[in-house]
Amino acid sequence: MTDQNLTTAQSGPVEIAPVQPAVVPQEARAHAADLGEFIAASPSSYHAAAEVARRAQAAGFTLLTEDAAWPVTPGGRYVVVRDGSVIAFTVPATAGPTTPFTIVGAHTDSTGFKLKPKPTTHGAGGWWQVGVEVYGGPLLNSWLDRELELAGRIVTHDGTEHLVRTGPMLRIPQLAIHLDRGVNDNGLALDKQRHTQPVWGLGDAQSADVLAALAADAGVDPADIGGYDVVLAETQPARAFGAGQALFASARLDNLLSTHAGLTALLGRVSTSSASAGSTSEGSTSVEMFAAFDHEEIGSASRSGAAGPFLEEVLVRISTALGATAEERSRAFAASLHVSSDVGHAVHPNYPERHDPANHPVAGGGPILKINANQRYATDAHGAAAWNAACRDAGVPTQEFVSSNVVPCGSTIGPISATRLGIRTVDVGVPILSMHSARELTAVVDPWYLSRAMSAVLGG
Ligand SMILES: [Zn+2]
Repeated sequence: MTDQNLTTAQSGPVEIAPVQPAVVPQEARAHAADLGEFIAASPSSYHAAAEVARRAQAAGFTLLTEDAAWPVTPGGRYVVVRDGSVIAFTVPATAGPTTPFTIVGAHTDSTGFKLKPKPTTHGAGGWWQVGVEVYGGPLLNSWLDRELELAGRIVTHDGTEHLVRTGPMLRIPQLAIHLDRGVNDNGLALDKQRHTQPVWGLGDAQSADVLAALAADAGVDPADIGGYDVVLAETQPARAFGAGQALFASARLDNLLSTHAGLTALLGRVSTSSASAGSTSEGSTSVEMFAAFDHEEIGSASRSGAAGPFLEEVLVRISTALGATAEERSRAFAASLHVSSDVGHAVHPNYPERHDPANHPVAGGGPILKINANQRYATDAHGAAAWNAACRDAGVPTQEFVSSNVVPCGSTIGPISATRLGIRTVDVGVPILSMHSARELTAVVDPWYLSRAMSAVLGG
């Protein structure tokens, strides 16, 4: 079956569209460089949410806390963080009870590993190790032989949350080929428990305490740690490379690429309007919102995930502040739009048969509209039309992704939040290679295209 498809796909009449010219616009290079800085500042979902809030506050957004009253008024800009999730929004000066919401969505978490309880362990040969649990569906092999850090949050006994990161400190070492002679012919088989535990030191077992390293970063006593959510993170900086410096490699492109694009779009609309028209986007007729959720890679079912109540509660609180009745809020939701972005698959030159024969998303060809008959993506005809109009307005090329019938696609936050809220939702993204690798690959130009299209969505 597979061979038949492979032959058909390779010998068929498919024309793969040419990639973009090697001349990458300077704005796209600047956008990618800023994306690299955003990713470096975001080794965990908690850091990503904090970095979004930091950038929003620097752009004049007011930080809201969920357990306090919200001073939301027409003309204001606000940002609210819940654990590893974050929502930022601007309220137009003309907002009223039926003002709709235009939302660009993404997710802050990435697949990898999470620190277990009793994390300090001691392996054979005097190695200090840490106990980690697999988070989501990483390409395990891609995590081998990299310098990794621990990053996340610790909560001290008084309830205070501290963001922590250690810098390069750990490594999951691959077994030498001399001790695994068949590996290149048979493939690498990793036991998720035994073969994934990192090393981080040598010698006297008594002095090994990985939590002490986290406590030191927070400036607290290790005995004062009451709990922690800490992940492993890849530490190599993002970089452009290749012919014309048109390719871009980084950890956590899934999905900090979309998180950064959505945030940049929202902040860009504020900055271009504030010089001439006060605090919110000029001429806007909707509440413009950027929402990024944690826990997408493990199904979104959490208090901060897209299947949880976070987005709905924020929308309801804004509606309430604008004086909406339940009926008026339903009218606002009915006129709202959510464009949810997550990375997708560019055609891999070594495996072109894994794609639909007619729909071949190419790196450098612009963002992708994701379509799935079984609603693994939420896109429908109206949503597709809205997205295509936004791309046309932004002068951004767009392409479509649909799975081969024998290679089922993943899913993302779009269908989950659409099911919850009933807001029309479109799933889009950027085509990348090596999805769920510790280091993924995109074309430099595509994140910038995505951000421009999102800006047009927000302004639409
Ligand atoms: Zn993703």
